[in-house]
Amino acid sequence: MEALAGQIGSCRKCALALSRTRTVPGEGPAPCRVMLIGEGPGKKEDESGRPFVGRAGAILSDLLARIGLSREDVFITSVVKCRPPANRTPGKGEIAACMPFLDRQIAVLSPAVLVPMGRVATSAIFSRYGVSFPSFREVRGRSVLVSEMETGREMRIVPVYHPAVITHNPPARAALEEDFMRLGEILADLH
Ligand code: SF4
Repeated sequence: MEALAGQIGSCRKCALALSRTRTVPGEGPAPCRVMLIGEGPGKKEDESGRPFVGRAGAILSDLLARIGLSREDVFITSVVKCRPPANRTPGKGEIAACMPFLDRQIAVLSPAVLVPMGRVATSAIFSRYGVSFPSFREVRGRSVLVSEMETGREMRIVPVYHPAVITHNPPARAALEEDFMRLGEILADLH
C-alpha cells in the first residue's frame, strides 16, 4: 500500500493534479473487511493528505460508532485521490483516470464489503462492476454481490448516503443513520 500511495503521490494523469495541494490515497488497516469510498477529498483533506478529517469525518466517526466500528477498523478512501477545485463533482474522465488506483487498493486490501458513500461514488462503483444504477435512492442500503476485478473473489457493495449530506440537508440525518444501521446488520449477517 505504501508503494501505491507513492504512485498516487506522483500521479498527473488528470487535470486535478494541477490544483491539488496533496494527494489523499486513503488510510486504514491492510487487509480490511470494510472499505468506505467517498467522492473525493475536500479542503481539509487536500491540506492534510488524510481522508475525512473535516466535519464529515466527525459525522462518519459517530455513524461508525453506532454500529460498533471505529475509523481504525475500516479503510477510508475516495474515487478520486485529488481534490476537485471548489469541491465540484469529479468528471467522468477524472474518475476513469483514477479508477485503476481504487481497483488496485481493492485487490490488495481484499475487503468483504465496499461502501460507496453518496451518489457519485455509488454510480462510479456500480459502473465499474457492471451493475445497473437506476438511481441512488433505489440502491442505498441494499447489498449487491459482485466479483472482484483481479481475483474473482466475491464481495458486496452496500451504498450509503454521504455523511456530508446533513451539512446542507439536515432532514437527511434519519436516512443517513438508517443506511449505516443497515450496513451494521449486513456486516453482522456476514459473520
Ligand atoms: S485524481 Fe487520481 S488520476 Fe487524477 S491526478 Fe489525482 S491521483 Fe492522478
